[in-house]
Amino acid sequence: MDLKKLSVFLKENDIPAFRLKQVREAVYKNFAAAWDEIPVLPAPLREKLSRKFHIHSLFPIETQVSKKNDAVKFLFELKDGLKVETVLLNLIPEKWSICVSTQVGCPVRCPFCATGRKGLKRNLSPDEIVDQFLAAAHYLKTKGSHKIGSVIFMGMGEPFYNYDALSDAIKVMCDPEMIGLGHRHISVSTAGHVPGIRRFAKDFPQCNLALSLHAPDDALRNDLVPLNRTYPLAQLTKALADYIVSTKRRVFVEYVLMDGINNSRSTAAKLNSFLRSVAAPKYFVVNLIPYNRTGGPYRSPTKEKIQLFASLLEDMGLEVTTRKSMGADIDGACGQLAGK
Ligand code: SAH
Ligand code: SF4
Repeated sequence: MDLKKLSVFLKENDIPAFRLKQVREAVYKNFAAAWDEIPVLPAPLREKLSRKFHIHSLFPIETQVSKKNDAVKFLFELKDGLKVETVLLNLIPEKWSICVSTQVGCPVRCPFCATGRKGLKRNLSPDEIVDQFLAAAHYLKTKGSHKIGSVIFMGMGEPFYNYDALSDAIKVMCDPEMIGLGHRHISVSTAGHVPGIRRFAKDFPQCNLALSLHAPDDALRNDLVPLNRTYPLAQLTKALADYIVSTKRRVFVEYVLMDGINNSRSTAAKLNSFLRSVAAPKYFVVNLIPYNRTGGPYRSPTKEKIQLFASLLEDMGLEVTTRKSMGADIDGACGQLAGK
């Protein structure tokens, strides 16, 4: 919510400043989504405020729950009518993670990704990013369910193309007086925006960085992740090496497996050498993501082939995890968010 605007309004109407604190606590700590959910405010004030302000900058217009109950996808409408998606994931029992969007659409236009297909509509504001969290937390509260323990910036958009809003949103999420998450519970996924990686290392050395690599050589990566034409692997190598030296943190390497495209033996070997040219293997966790269908020509390899690719990397000394696809039945899995 826009606390600055609220603060100005309270001053103009001679309402004592402690009301602001009450609202802040109700919204950011107790996830109130409507003024009548804040009973500490006198009824006339609530009425006044409800005529003037919406608590959230977006409104859920559709909520889908996966069959296994391990994913919830929200379609939010923004004030200008554009739509954005957010997914709650139940990765660990009793703990939810939230996958938030930073842009409507995405300018990077990776050919395998549903978000990229639409190009960029616009950046989200810090409030629109944070309010995805607050609205989802409100939903979980109404279900009597558990809280959100971590945030991954892996929804629609390239976070580092909207750096300032991303940065403001992370600050609100980590401020003990606001949402109050630990920096270690925040992860940002980038398609390889080099200046963004460098700023992020300085500004948020305690947060996690995920890199969507998908290809270990420029020729293939230029096709799969067009941002590679702006920041080719040589530049990415340096930025990642510096990131690891300055933060001493591991980098999560995302690798979407597309059959016949990036899952050969020789690609595995190239991936291994690429990572070793950046830093020692202990600084990486390679996260293999079976491709989720989005209507293009790509296909996920079979389970056996995925297992084979994973063991090739493991034999080379890399730590590998294979992501189980969650929420695919509600089009809420990685790369399926299109804000339709
Ligand atoms: N733009 C950022 C973050 C959002 S995309 C990035 O690219 O990192 C989140 C993740 O979903 C990325 O790793 C992306 O490569 C992956 N992804 C996109 N489309 C996918 C698909 N169809 N199947 C599986 N993963 C996909
Ligand atoms: Fe954008 Fe990420 Fe999708 Fe590529 S994979 S188009 S960078 S959202």
